[in-house]
Amino acid sequence: MTKFSELPLHTKVLKAIEEAGYTQPTPIQEGAIPPACEGRDVLGIAQTGTGKTASFTLPMITALNRGRARARMPRSLVLAPTRELAAQVAENFDQYAKYTKLTKALLIGGVSFKEQDALIDRGVDVLIATPGRLLDHFERGKLILSDVKIMVVDEADRMLDMGFIPDIERIFGLTPFTRQTLFFSATMAPEIERITNTFLSNPARVEVARQATTSEMITQTVYEIKGSGRDIPKKKRDFLRQLIDSEGEKVTNGIIFCNRKVDVDIVAKSLKKHGHDAEAIHGDLDQSYRTRTLEGFRDGNIRFLVASDVAARGLDIPNVSHVFNFDVPSHSEDYVHRIGRTGRAGRAGTAMMISAPKDEKLLAGIERLIETTIPRGETGLPEAKAKDDTKPKEEKPKRSRSKKPKADAEKPAEAEAAAAEEPAPEKSKPADKPKSERSRGGRGRGRNEDRGPKTVGLGDHLPDFIAQSFEERREAG
Ligand code: AMP
Repeated sequence: MTKFSELPLHTKVLKAIEEAGYTQPTPIQEGAIPPACEGRDVLGIAQTGTGKTASFTLPMITALNRGRARARMPRSLVLAPTRELAAQVAENFDQYAKYTKLTKALLIGGVSFKEQDALIDRGVDVLIATPGRLLDHFERGKLILSDVKIMVVDEADRMLDMGFIPDIERIFGLTPFTRQTLFFSATMAPEIERITNTFLSNPARVEVARQATTSEMITQTVYEIKGSGRDIPKKKRDFLRQLIDSEGEKVTNGIIFCNRKVDVDIVAKSLKKHGHDAEAIHGDLDQSYRTRTLEGFRDGNIRFLVASDVAARGLDIPNVSHVFNFDVPSHSEDYVHRIGRTGRAGRAGTAMMISAPKDEKLLAGIERLIETTIPRGETGLPEAKAKDDTKPKEEKPKRSRSKKPKADAEKPAEAEAAAAEEPAPEKSKPADKPKSERSRGGRGRGRNEDRGPKTVGLGDHLPDFIAQSFEERREAG
């Protein structure tokens, strides 16, 4: 097996890696780093959790270590589909580039244009951005992309899901033809294949095994609960608590996935009501709230994160002991992504899924995809117990949004997944919001786009239960 020291990386990078405690490159790193360091284009087929961020960041730092950035002309570009993912890449960059003098800027929504402009004006070596935000800066004339030497596209399949492919194509067109491209996707959909054929030049193709088929570290169980229609959501909440209780101290922390944002809110509220330490994360919540929640979860101050797929996509949260699928995901591939949050970096993980009778086909689809029959768990929740349980008040959550909650509740998971990154409606427009952002239409720039800064705070869209938790925290702190 290759050692890091055998890879053509700069000594400053090697020092940072050693400090990070990495002893050996992961397969994607072993495959992608040598061609990337040679200046070749790389097509990496790998998903989060495989170490792919380092597989493009380390060669970038090595290559950029010589030379200096000029004002408004970044020397490299990393495009990520969500703000959280972009922020995560930035964190990784800081860690691996700590012994270099390289500079970076993070262009994501929720941060003022002014601050970001100031950084770009000074000149940055690495620009990490979501596609929409990057184009906003470009259209405001604040950014010149003709000096980009390395361009990274991360999670391209997610970009496709979110309608960002036209933006990506446009950005490719704005960068020099001679750039080096490092392109990562978990899957190779035909549209992704087309993009890579168009914009990559003789790439080194590096494919690592799917996580679900490789991670024997994850113990998977599915619990098929009985019942129909209206009883099911409450039964599922009861059963979720039962699962958590039965796992006891083995649950150090966990992510609970729901298919719909409305259920993310309800489940988080329900868990809190029953004394569990849980917070919701989905695209309708204010960015600063999402960031704080994530930090709290990472720091171990929040035990349960109740999440939608897009909000949780790509998040690197080490040491998650449990993943609970409150809903069977509508897209089989999301099951792989969801359970991939646990069992990371050689640690054991537990993935438990609650399935209702109507989910039978979806469950079969997942099992076909992972080529495994997920062991069935004992449901042991007698009908009577479920019915007799005191009905928690969260049954009728007070909605803070006047926007047809029913439509949200009925929204198919796909639409929810795409809409999860959609920011909450703004009450007031920030002064620095660019005109272009409001006027630019175009394919793929609809509801999913990363619209940039939002109203500070949660405005009218603050659900009561979150307001309450803020109050509690304020009182506590
Ligand atoms: P990623 O797939 O980039 O999200 O990385 C997943 C996790 O693996 C992150 O927490 C990284 O810090 C960690 N990681 C990356 N490379 C290595 C390595 N060679 N050895 C151990 N951990 C690693």
